[in-house]
Amino acid sequence: MRPTLADYRHVASGKVRDIYEIDADTLLLVTSDRISAYDFILDTPIPDKGRILTAASFYWFDVLGVPNHLAGGPTDERIPAELVGRSMVVKKLPMVQVECVARGYLTGSGLADYNATGSVCGVALPAGLGEADKLPEPIFTPATKAEMGEHDENVSFEHVAATVGVELATQLRELTLDIYGRGSDLAAERGIILADTKFEFGQAEDGSLVLADEVLTPDSSRYWDAATYEPGKVQPSFDKQIVRNWLTGPESGWDRKGEIAPPPLPADIVEQTRARYIEAYERISQLSFADWPDRLDG
Ligand code: ATP
Ligand code: MG
Repeated sequence: MRPTLADYRHVASGKVRDIYEIDADTLLLVTSDRISAYDFILDTPIPDKGRILTAASFYWFDVLGVPNHLAGGPTDERIPAELVGRSMVVKKLPMVQVECVARGYLTGSGLADYNATGSVCGVALPAGLGEADKLPEPIFTPATKAEMGEHDENVSFEHVAATVGVELATQLRELTLDIYGRGSDLAAERGIILADTKFEFGQAEDGSLVLADEVLTPDSSRYWDAATYEPGKVQPSFDKQIVRNWLTGPESGWDRKGEIAPPPLPADIVEQTRARYIEAYERISQLSFADWPDRLDG
């Protein structure tokens, strides 16, 4: 008999995920179907989004082959039946309090930082770069974890070193760039640009780094379609562009500059977005989402 959620203590909820404690050493990370856009959690969920993102994390943990926090497979018996497919059973780890971001392209807060200072997180870059330009080489652009509702703040490598020590900071940078490199190479083979991504690491008892949280999902990464990539302008998001276009278009009647939350999404926008998430997962993993999770034991 599988447990129910009532058997576990609720620890925290982020914008998209809910965390429960299975026991003193083990957490259940549940990914909901909630979607955010323009800093709002939308009222309309995208069916299966949580399952698709969970499938993506499992795929990447598997292919990356670096130590990770998984403590069970996708159908682990400790997962309540109705949450199988959208949940990970993980080792509870002390987390390194640094958002480990790697960027191969210039956009978002990276571009803003570059335009203001000529560098990103203290990494000097050549002059003349613009929106969506590919960087000469991928860079480590860490951020501090912000409180709920706040934006993460970009910081320099030196700031990280001052916080966690230069040795750990150096390891974080190397591992972040190594995993980004492998992720972006694999995505590129499948016609997708991994513009940037964020990792979170925990530490094993011996202090070594363990890849935790979600990995290379559309929620933690910017994915662009290589076929339509065109530097010089903001690139469409592989997964969220349909939602963004609708929200900022005439049909939604929504004022992006205002304080009011966006209206509910129409059914066809929901369906197209769901299809987009599935397409991203299937193209990158070369697996069929219909087969996820492969079997339900117990
Ligand atoms: P948001 O992503 O909405 O800004 P958040 O990052 O605080 O908020 P979630 O992403 O929903 O919240 O939840 C994941 C939380 O669990 C993060 O705080 C992350 O650091 C933490 N976490 C991930 N893996 C582990 C782990 N193996 N052990 C302990 N904590 C973990
Ligand atoms: Mg998070």
